[in-house]
Amino acid sequence: MSTAVLETPPADPTGPVSKPLTTGRQPAGILIALWLFVTIPFAAMIAAVPAMWGWGLNWVDVVLFVIFYSIGGFGIGVGFHRYLTHGSFKAKRWLRVALAVAGSVAIEGSPTQWVADHRRHHQFSDMEGDPHSPWRYGETLWGLTKGLWYSHMGWLFYREMSNQERFAPDLVADKDISRVDKLFPWLVVTSVALPAVIGGLATWSWQGALSALFWASLVRIALLHHTTWSINSVCHVYGERPFDSRDKATNFWPLAILSFGENWHNLHHADPTCARHGVLRGQIDMNARLIWIFEKFGWVSNVRWPKLDRLQGKMVEPERTTLGNATR
Ligand SMILES: [Zn+2]
Ligand SMILES: [Zn+2]
Repeated sequence: MSTAVLETPPADPTGPVSKPLTTGRQPAGILIALWLFVTIPFAAMIAAVPAMWGWGLNWVDVVLFVIFYSIGGFGIGVGFHRYLTHGSFKAKRWLRVALAVAGSVAIEGSPTQWVADHRRHHQFSDMEGDPHSPWRYGETLWGLTKGLWYSHMGWLFYREMSNQERFAPDLVADKDISRVDKLFPWLVVTSVALPAVIGGLATWSWQGALSALFWASLVRIALLHHTTWSINSVCHVYGERPFDSRDKATNFWPLAILSFGENWHNLHHADPTCARHGVLRGQIDMNARLIWIFEKFGWVSNVRWPKLDRLQGKMVEPERTTLGNATR
């Protein structure tokens, strides 16, 4: 595996140099769990189409799918990403815990590990040290094909664990978040089993439990996984780059609804702490809307809403780009 095509990052001005980037290879248990969670939901998704005509899909499944997809999706986008990783706002303690739990429901890793990986991604984005750059094998067609696979999900299988002590010391020291980290395996079990239990009780049938397990657990987990992973792969290759970021991050509009606004990834890399990623006209950003609602209820404060002059300074062609939602 060659990483020579990636640039060597500049000396890290913030991180304590004495601490290594990674803390060794991931344990075998995690690797096995990873294979199970990647292959089983994906196989389920492929089987979904004929299954739909076979023994159907009911409204309970649809409602459970939307609820659990939303909990995980907002938990990742608002909780793990904009709040815990980038500190785009301050939250009341109960909401901080709730967001960490909600993000765990997506089954993308415990809060602290997710944050450590993602902060490392920002610090070294598209350079050597980035845990998942699609450009690591070069810019040829074959190199990019391999790179897209690697950044989408391959990196999860070959990864070295990002060092939590180096990249997320704030969360390591946080008792509430550490508790959620420890509870993570139980949250995984709950995330898989709860839709089936509710589906079974709501329809009072085993078949109801099974179809809820299928749609609201397996298919839901697979879809959210691939949406998140597409931000790491597709959104560093294809799409627009209206803002100046030092990496290859893009805005890729087709993922706006499924990713709740995480797809406006070019702006995000240009201005990582900004609470809103979709700042241009027409860019739907449901994560930003939820933060806005939390702010109205007084549950969050110090929200880093976009600032017009700051954004204009980062635009590649300010005269040709229209800012839409830039005040909140
Ligand atoms: Zn990125
Ligand atoms: Zn980020």
